[in-house]
Amino acid sequence: MQIMSGRIDREFFKHQREYEEAALRVLRSGWYVLGENVRKFEEEFARYLDIKYCTGVASGLDALWIAFRALGVKENDEVIVQGNTYIASVMGISINGATPVFVEPDEYYNIDIRKIEEKITKRTKAILVVHLYGQAADMTSVTEIAKKYGLYVVEDCAQAHGACWNGKKVGTFGDIGCFSFYPSKNLGAYGDGGAIVTNHKEIKDFVQMFRNYGSEKRYYNKVVGANSRLDEIQAALLRVKLKYIGEITEEKCRIADKYLNELSNKEVILPAQRSNGNSVWHQFVVRCNRREDLIEHLASHNIGTIIHYPVPPHLSEAYQYLKVGRGTLPITEEYADSVLSIPSYFGMSKQEQEYVIECINAF
Ligand SMILES: *Cc1c(COP(=O)(O)O)cnc(C)c1O
Repeated sequence: MQIMSGRIDREFFKHQREYEEAALRVLRSGWYVLGENVRKFEEEFARYLDIKYCTGVASGLDALWIAFRALGVKENDEVIVQGNTYIASVMGISINGATPVFVEPDEYYNIDIRKIEEKITKRTKAILVVHLYGQAADMTSVTEIAKKYGLYVVEDCAQAHGACWNGKKVGTFGDIGCFSFYPSKNLGAYGDGGAIVTNHKEIKDFVQMFRNYGSEKRYYNKVVGANSRLDEIQAALLRVKLKYIGEITEEKCRIADKYLNELSNKEVILPAQRSNGNSVWHQFVVRCNRREDLIEHLASHNIGTIIHYPVPPHLSEAYQYLKVGRGTLPITEEYADSVLSIPSYFGMSKQEQEYVIECINAF
């Protein structure tokens, strides 16, 4: 049996006709940018999250940097972010000239709320919370800290469509929630896409203007904006997938439960689960001190794995200018050296999963 680290085709083929018809309808409509599908997807996704406004943009990275732009975050400002995240979270901050200030993660791979306050300075403007791997962070504590110090809260929900904290969906706690629809995400498009969600009308108005060259009225430009629009075909496909996000999430959860119940190898550390929040299990991430051996063992049994992420942003070449050296974030670095995502995808059969479990337990 061969098992890939992830696959997105099974969900597509399950609803193939609907996806193909949706794409064809756009092709035949003669309207390809900022039309009915984008508007309707924005409404439907906002309703799904239970938030007032959603604006489609071209990617998750764009959602992040445009969110900080909307909040006025700029040079000489600092933004607090967890050390163990995908580098896009950090780029969303630094593209605006602001400085990312890293905080260690907790045992759930979310920002450690006990370590945020010590990093707040006069220059701190915002906290960026990443609901990494699909696990909702402790938004009660984050919003309390932010309120106490007068900081904005931005949520990076690129991996956590539909995850809840105390029964409320992530992306709706902070000033702005940022989503990615990159194909491999739980709510993935068939190309790039992203969204910015908020309850603040001024922010929504800014983002709608900014994503379209800074113009509200065609050819009249208020600011130097961006070309960052969710396109009609992707929006039409996302409207189809949004109908099935419940089904997709349920399946990811079922796979995670089975792993949690049946994986038993003392060299493999299983993910911890919070009581007030849930995970939508974008990735099922284990830790192993002999990671290279585990990868090789699984590869020899035709099981693919992937590391999210081998180089933490502060150690990446791109961020050497920050001068946050190795050893500064020991937990982040330990995670980077030991995490491994094992196969968990919509449409994974019981047989496939049992084969993965058997091979990991035999390691
Ligand atoms: C995927 C991802 C992004 C970036 O999204 P793109 O659409 O690929 O630009 C940002 N943050 C996190 C945590 C992600 O996983």
